[in-house]
Amino acid sequence: MKTTPPQHLAADVLVIGSGGAGMYAAIEAARRGRSVILADRSLIGRGGATVMAQMTVAVALEEGGLDRPEHHYADTLAAGRGLCDQAIARLLCEEGPARIREMDAWGVGWARENGAYKRAFAPGHDRPRCVYVDFLNTGPAVSKTLRAQLNRIPAIRRVGDLLVTALALGDGECVGAGALHLSSGQPVSIAAGATVLATGGLTRMYRRNSASANMMGDGYALALGAGAELIDMEFVQFFPIGHLAPRLVGMDPIMWDPFRYKLGGRLLNGRREEFIHRYGSRDEGRYVVTRDVATYAIVKEVAAGRGSPHGGAYLSFEHCSEAELRVAGGPVIDRLAANGIDLTRQAIEVAPIAHYHMGGVRVDARMATRVPGLYAAGEAVGGANGANRLSGNAITEALVFGRVAGESAAGHARRTVARADAAVFSREKGRLMEGRAPSDFNPAAMVEQLQTTMQDDVGPFRTRAGLERALGQLRALRAALPSLKPAAGKAYDAALADWLDLDTMTRVGECVAAAALARTESRGAHQREDFPGMDPQWSLNQAIALERGALQIEPRAVPA
Ligand SMILES: Cc1cc2nc3c(=O)[nH]c(=O)nc-3n(C[C@H](O)[C@H](O)[C@H](O)COP(=O)(O)OP(=O)(O)OC[C@H]3O[C@@H](n4cnc5c(N)ncnc54)[C@H](O)[C@@H]3O)c2cc1C
Repeated sequence: MKTTPPQHLAADVLVIGSGGAGMYAAIEAARRGRSVILADRSLIGRGGATVMAQMTVAVALEEGGLDRPEHHYADTLAAGRGLCDQAIARLLCEEGPARIREMDAWGVGWARENGAYKRAFAPGHDRPRCVYVDFLNTGPAVSKTLRAQLNRIPAIRRVGDLLVTALALGDGECVGAGALHLSSGQPVSIAAGATVLATGGLTRMYRRNSASANMMGDGYALALGAGAELIDMEFVQFFPIGHLAPRLVGMDPIMWDPFRYKLGGRLLNGRREEFIHRYGSRDEGRYVVTRDVATYAIVKEVAAGRGSPHGGAYLSFEHCSEAELRVAGGPVIDRLAANGIDLTRQAIEVAPIAHYHMGGVRVDARMATRVPGLYAAGEAVGGANGANRLSGNAITEALVFGRVAGESAAGHARRTVARADAAVFSREKGRLMEGRAPSDFNPAAMVEQLQTTMQDDVGPFRTRAGLERALGQLRALRAALPSLKPAAGKAYDAALADWLDLDTMTRVGECVAAAALARTESRGAHQREDFPGMDPQWSLNQAIALERGALQIEPRAVPA
């Protein structure tokens, strides 16, 4: 059914993306008296990573004198291998407890024991620090709680099915955006006094990923196009124990983490030997090895011919009793049984999958980009986690950075008027309406080609030759796009949406590959086979900007 499109929208604050970061930004801007448009290419509060998160949220709750934000901060900096932007990492750790308690007051339902928050231990944290909602329910509960808050605030207009394709600039300021209304196929303009990018990460660009269909780095491309900078785009985190085999239907590939938090589990190679100790860490049935080291170790075991049958490692809970497994997994044990999996009798196979992006839009501690009126929040932001993110920090950053971006955008919008000048929007409308795709245009094949390039040559292990090959392939794909573009105007035009995604992914993929090529060392999630080991001279961030259509990469001192 073709729906009536909104042709022009206006509000004090435009928030693009309605995951945890976007919903919190919208709530905060509205609390500060601003009118808000919360736009999402998917359903409001149901697209992106937040609703899929199943594990934990890292936060230093001082309850019982067990923890303090400075401990969390120290662990975050250590995991980031010297590259964290200290101001925003500190913000994450210091404001995290307030956001977690606010979510608690809103009824999220953090797991509790004898009235106190249950806190799980996770790798890289020096003490149990991760709250969660049982069972595998953290992200759905966070999303549902924020959606319930949104519903109570009339000043927030929620517009789903709206794919933002470009930011609008007036006198060097961000004054809104151009978008495609997917269900009608019509271009839409949105005037806003301030704009927040809360579009999440980029992991759909990889063949093996934990992403939903709308996570391919839109916010990074939008920010670049508007003149903002990106930072540390080379740092893509692979989640080491993504499900590989046997076949698992109706469950998320990263679901093994909560079992690891609660029961440890043993990570074994194809010969059923422990192997993590060979790579400078320890595991031995306790869940202590960080994601970058575990990813490295599994890929190296497979390369050495010691992988599991499907090319990963075994994760075994066979030493646990059925009763222990049921306490840890609750109803999940029945869902596994429906998939024919009995953890008391069999080990499952796991392997790394692209999961999170540490790089992103460069912001200050107010979440402001260098473009006036443009802010970013959540996984769209780079720098807080440096070269490697600790488990649980991503939901915290979405909530904290979302609130701060909402506050800052509300402040900026108070000083500016939402501009409805049609002229600044006409270019993007024209771009969307133009084009004529040839009948044999097969965007799905091009997306697959791009994902294979990213996985094979810009994945967990990189070399100069591979990165140069990837850059060549990404640029060739990008060069082919202009003559393939379908014109807007058709309802639910999947080919046009794919074309727009390819436009974004070729640009963002180029950022990741170019930054990875420039960084001639191995650090955290960025591992160069030809430059093993950390080089102290590379204790630098890399900023990326678009100058006259070409990417410029510049090393920068890490902000203290
Ligand atoms: C399967 C999975 C499990 C995870 N588990 C955990 C966990 O347990 N703990 C943890 O801390 N972290 C976890 N993470 C990471 C964490 O969930 C994310 O980093 C975080 O939720 C990101 O929140 P966000 O609001 O920034 O983005 P998202 O929640 O990804 O939301 C982004 C939104 O932007 C929209 N969007 C994108 N582009 C556009 C556009 N052009 N126009 C309009 N809308 C757009 C998308 O549709 C989406 O709704 C997990 C990630 C995944 C994928």
